Amino acid sequence: MSLIVQKFGGTSVGNTDKIKAVAERVLKYKQQGHQMVVVLSAMSGVTDQLTGYAKAVQKVPALREMDMLLSTGEQVTISLFTMALKEVGYDAISLLGDQVSITTDEMHTRARIKKIDTELIRKHLDEGKIVTVAGFQGVTVDGDITTLGRGGSDTTAVALAAALKADACEIFTDVNGVYTTDPNICKAARKIDRISYDEMLELASLGAKVLDIRSVGFAKRYKVPLHVRSTFTETEGTWVVEEEKIMESMLVSGVTYNKKEARITIKNVPDQPGIAAKIFLPISDAGIVVDMIIQNTTTGDMTDMTFTVIKSDYDRAMVLLEKLVKEIGAECVTGSEDIAKISIVGVGMRNHSGIASTMFHILSKEGINILMISTSEIKVSCIVEEKYTELAVRALHEAFALDKANLPIEEKEPVPSNEE
Ligand code: ADP
Ligand code: ASP
Ligand code: MG
Repeated sequence: MSLIVQKFGGTSVGNTDKIKAVAERVLKYKQQGHQMVVVLSAMSGVTDQLTGYAKAVQKVPALREMDMLLSTGEQVTISLFTMALKEVGYDAISLLGDQVSITTDEMHTRARIKKIDTELIRKHLDEGKIVTVAGFQGVTVDGDITTLGRGGSDTTAVALAAALKADACEIFTDVNGVYTTDPNICKAARKIDRISYDEMLELASLGAKVLDIRSVGFAKRYKVPLHVRSTFTETEGTWVVEEEKIMESMLVSGVTYNKKEARITIKNVPDQPGIAAKIFLPISDAGIVVDMIIQNTTTGDMTDMTFTVIKSDYDRAMVLLEKLVKEIGAECVTGSEDIAKISIVGVGMRNHSGIASTMFHILSKEGINILMISTSEIKVSCIVEEKYTELAVRALHEAFALDKANLPIEEKEPVPSNEE
């Protein structure tokens, strides 16, 4: 008998018929004798709808209240799912994050899991029940409800699998697995059979929303075997595993896009020591995560500072910066939400030159202007206007021949590292 944690995303439980179909699928595993813990998301669109309600009432919604609101989405699906199981005669119970208890820090709307009690879940499993847990939510030590950030149900599932020492964690979604790029915007995208935790971390952090990045972090740390697969087919999906278990080694393994960031520019900032700290300290104190930063020296002793933040933090960041601009003697702050970050990812890039320049060349051939660039040893990212997202992804996918399976890394002399 194995213990399996299965997570079903919003589209998999998008209406009551789908919820009943998921219940049937889970029952098949239960009937094979497995102990089943099921984590569910809110019905598709519900978290967005709740966010819309909040913004209609308060321009920058209070974060604690936002969690109170957003956590209701998952409560609906777990209760309905449990009813569906009971309707066909199976014993099941639904549990909220605080009932489990999934303890998090106090960082509302992006809380981190600190501890999970498995006692109650184990008790119900031992009584033969299917246990259903609300994804995406937890509770602080003071009893306040928290949420884990968008896509956070994946993290609930993997963290539960780690805490319960489950035999596997399966993430059921609306595509057949992890692809070389989003199969919904590029028909040539190819399903990857096995991918390393590190590459998956990079893909997830750069926008491949098929897995929440924190779920991959948990899977890596606790060596949770992770299987991403479709709710609607029986097809084998993608296994996320340790690097040594991967046979295929690609120069570039994926192309990602992220439309969730916004660009902010502070114009004519006095170019003095300590100015970056004066800007970014209050931002980080407010829990706003900054991604790319560019500082260009303009005329004389003034400079422009451009950086990106998550779109959901954009309004809060602008309110904060408009005050700050006056304090530091800068001219003004402007911003744009119509941007996208396009990235290419691959561990094979470590020892190869020319990947970034190929990317720039392909984008320029398509007439796409690059607004910002950042690189690391296994990725290159460019910020472009949002309207070019699909065009950029398809052109790069084709240029790096990602539709071809098992394309080995071309044998080249490794590029000497500067540190050596
Ligand atoms: P769920 O609601 O099941 O959590 P998500 O919408 O969060 O599903 O994630 C699945 C979606 O991720 C797919 O429909 C697909 O459009 C998108 N996606 C983006 N990049 C990738 C990728 N590299 N491989 C597979 N899916 C991807
Ligand atoms: N319902 C939440 C969201 O839409 C969590 C999740 O689906 O993973 O982001
Ligand atoms: Mg998701």
